[in-house]
Amino acid sequence: MGRTETSVVFIGLGSNLDDPRRQIRMAMQALECIPGSRIVADSGLYLSKPLVPASGAIAQADYLNAVVKIETQLGPHELLDHLQQIEQAQGRERKQRWGPRTIDLDILLFDDRYIKDERLTLPHPGISQRSFVLYPLHNVAATLDIPGHGMLEELITNCPRDGLRYLGKKGMKNELGK
Ligand code: ATP
Ligand code: MG
Ligand code: MG
Repeated sequence: MGRTETSVVFIGLGSNLDDPRRQIRMAMQALECIPGSRIVADSGLYLSKPLVPASGAIAQADYLNAVVKIETQLGPHELLDHLQQIEQAQGRERKQRWGPRTIDLDILLFDDRYIKDERLTLPHPGISQRSFVLYPLHNVAATLDIPGHGMLEELITNCPRDGLRYLGKKGMKNELGK
């Protein structure tokens, strides 16, 4: 681990394949098991419309999304390793950019860090345009100043919901640990 300091991190979860509700729940259980890390807040579930690549819409199901706030003693790249292991364990296949997936785990913010290397960009590049990120993020961090992007509340004002629906917390936290 190599660090004793604790970082505050926000992770975006998304799924639209193979029982998305179960995928999100499994991923949250797996996040709880990452060494030196714990979930301190979760947004509840959102239903969202798929992103449309420049090449045109992909025929795929709507997504379930959530954002969790975690505290971790890992560094950003170590955390990414764990997230990618969880994605693999849940059968994530990368065939098509923004195509259907069992689970996507993106690091949205890692403290106030800026990173840009071949594995990691922080803050996550899509953060300020995506309703399925901004609205759930607001549930776990009402006042947040996103480095390089501005105040979360302002970003939300400029981001239409675009079909995003809040489904609530039922069936999420209660079922953690089952
Ligand atoms: P998007 O990043 O636009 O949401 P995606 O999540 O579908 O698309 P993936 O296939 O999950 O993209 O990831 C592609 C690569 O993105 C990964 O190999 C990873 O190294 C890199 N990556 C860069 N920044 C991040 C980040 N902040 N969180 C997670 N992965 C990241
Ligand atoms: Mg993503
Ligand atoms: Mg991803």
